[in-house]
Amino acid sequence: MSSNSGYTLARDASLIDRNTFRVDTRAALLVEVQAIEALPAALADPAVAGREPVLIGAGSNLLLAGDIPLALRIEADATTVLGQDASGTRIRAEAGLAWNDFLRQVLARGIAGPENMALIPGTIGAAPIQNIGAYGTEIGEFVETVEAWDRRGARVVRLPREACAFGYRDSVFKREAGRYVIVAVEFFFPAAPALRLDYAGLREELAAMGVATPTASDVADAVSRIRTRKLPDWRTLGNAGSFFKNPIVAAARADALAAAHPAMPVYPAGDDARRKLSAAWLIEACGWKGARQGDAGVAAQHALVLVNHGHATGPDILALAERIAASVEARFGVGLEPEPRIVGARFAPAVAA
Ligand SMILES: Cc1cc2nc3c(=O)[nH]c(=O)nc-3n(C[C@H](O)[C@H](O)[C@H](O)COP(=O)(O)OP(=O)(O)OC[C@H]3O[C@@H](n4cnc5c(N)ncnc54)[C@H](O)[C@@H]3O)c2cc1C
Repeated sequence: MSSNSGYTLARDASLIDRNTFRVDTRAALLVEVQAIEALPAALADPAVAGREPVLIGAGSNLLLAGDIPLALRIEADATTVLGQDASGTRIRAEAGLAWNDFLRQVLARGIAGPENMALIPGTIGAAPIQNIGAYGTEIGEFVETVEAWDRRGARVVRLPREACAFGYRDSVFKREAGRYVIVAVEFFFPAAPALRLDYAGLREELAAMGVATPTASDVADAVSRIRTRKLPDWRTLGNAGSFFKNPIVAAARADALAAAHPAMPVYPAGDDARRKLSAAWLIEACGWKGARQGDAGVAAQHALVLVNHGHATGPDILALAERIAASVEARFGVGLEPEPRIVGARFAPAVAA
């Protein structure tokens, strides 16, 4: 490893500790940036210049399934309070900070708003990419400005929330993958928002905790308890959370499926023409829950979570995901789309004719 001011370079680096699937992929060159100001110099380094890096945060939404010539991580993790008044608080956080650490820092200041997103793994820098969300809240609601290195113009740009084009697990950063290196996010948390407790089991969990008048920190604790119960811990069973997005289909298609399968859940999808289906239900109905092929498997407690039982490779997990999607397509005629970014390979389920 060589070390320069504010960034390090490592050749033939294992990424096993840098992705939550814990697949043992290697990067031919891994660049880690400890000081935001050093990013331009890191990108201009003769070993790096002109090449497209794969950005890696905590690797909790990545499936590393092929060679990685160049990986880039931002490790800078400072937070700065930019202002606070009666309307709310403005805070800047650097890309390398863990989202949940930031959330707890915010709550400790007596600020409410992000508590329903407690315990989502990953970094600040990756959070805007798929507009992380949980329990009825999305990060896009609180993002004021995203500060990023624009590889197209080779300069730092500041994108206001509207320019980020946040949608369901979507943003301009996802649509223009490879263009932006997010270096920091500025958040605005309005003063005294109402807590959102009407989501799957939250009130029940607070009651079980003996909390009658919850604070935002109590809600974060309740969410953390539910998540810990529902999802396997990637430290002991590698996974990337939900592997497939819930499919959105035409309302008529959803009605026909619901008529044929009365137990199938169907949810609104924001307008009258479309409906959201449960990917977990579709996968479970095809018999995949708890299934295992070699060391690649489907979690026993959640059909949407693919897991690495030990030595699965990225291609092993990808092959299982493709088999699952092909069987759902064959039985229900519904295509599944992966939520994590697949690096080094293409997701291509082979549906039998
Ligand atoms: C157990 C578990 C539960 C999860 N639950 C949820 C949930 O409830 N809701 C939810 O929304 N997500 C969830 N996720 C997914 C994941 O936590 C988020 O997508 C998170 O934002 C990923 O952060 P990361 O730092 O690990 O990013 P990575 O996985 O490292 O990268 C994700 C994407 O962001 C890009 N990227 C990373 N850093 C930067 C940067 N600085 N600039 C530009 N691009 C960058 C990568 O290239 C990649 O495309 C879960 C994951 C796990 C493992």
